[in-house]
Amino acid sequence: MSDDETVEEYLFKIVIIGDSAVGKSNLLSRFARNEFNAHSKATIGVEFQTQSVEIDGKEVKAQIWDTAGQERFRAVTSAYYRGAFGALLVYDISRRATFDNVARWLDELNSHSDTTVAKMLVGNKCDLENTREVSLDEGKSLAESEGLFFIETSALDSTNVWTAFEIVIREIYNNVSRKVL
Ligand code: GDP
Repeated sequence: MSDDETVEEYLFKIVIIGDSAVGKSNLLSRFARNEFNAHSKATIGVEFQTQSVEIDGKEVKAQIWDTAGQERFRAVTSAYYRGAFGALLVYDISRRATFDNVARWLDELNSHSDTTVAKMLVGNKCDLENTREVSLDEGKSLAESEGLFFIETSALDSTNVWTAFEIVIREIYNNVSRKVL
């Protein structure tokens, strides 16, 4: 490589939050390794995985953190949120209680981060149409009223998983480029 050829690399932290068993770990493993685990058991302790997307010809790497079961004990710590540039707030479209709890997760996120954090509301398990309890419109209007991006996904059949992360990563990248310019 010649001296004047530089490779610009970016690394951003993203957190995934939401109630237990909404599919947070599987969304991450689908995005980072293209894997799904039907019997995933939460391991306690924070874990992260990385994945890169190309934006404007640049490699933008996301370090994505998974609560790994801490949310069961209402014990997601401030260290978990620290330094995050983006967040996915996940609920399960087949369990209304997980949607009702989004407001609490959003409060917690907002109390630990500033307004520039890119936030995406994610209705996961959209493959479970037969047992749906939260409509697409309900998800959309909550997202609109709270100023969040919104998407429905299935970690099981891969629907929109890549897109969900890519939108957040692109928004972070745009936010950061705006600051630099
Ligand atoms: P977490 O506790 O939020 O990290 O949730 P997990 O990723 O461990 O998933 C909880 C359960 O939901 C597991 O049995 C998964 O196999 C299942 N699951 C996760 N995502 C999906 C999905 O998109 N569709 C369906 N049908 N099941 C899913």
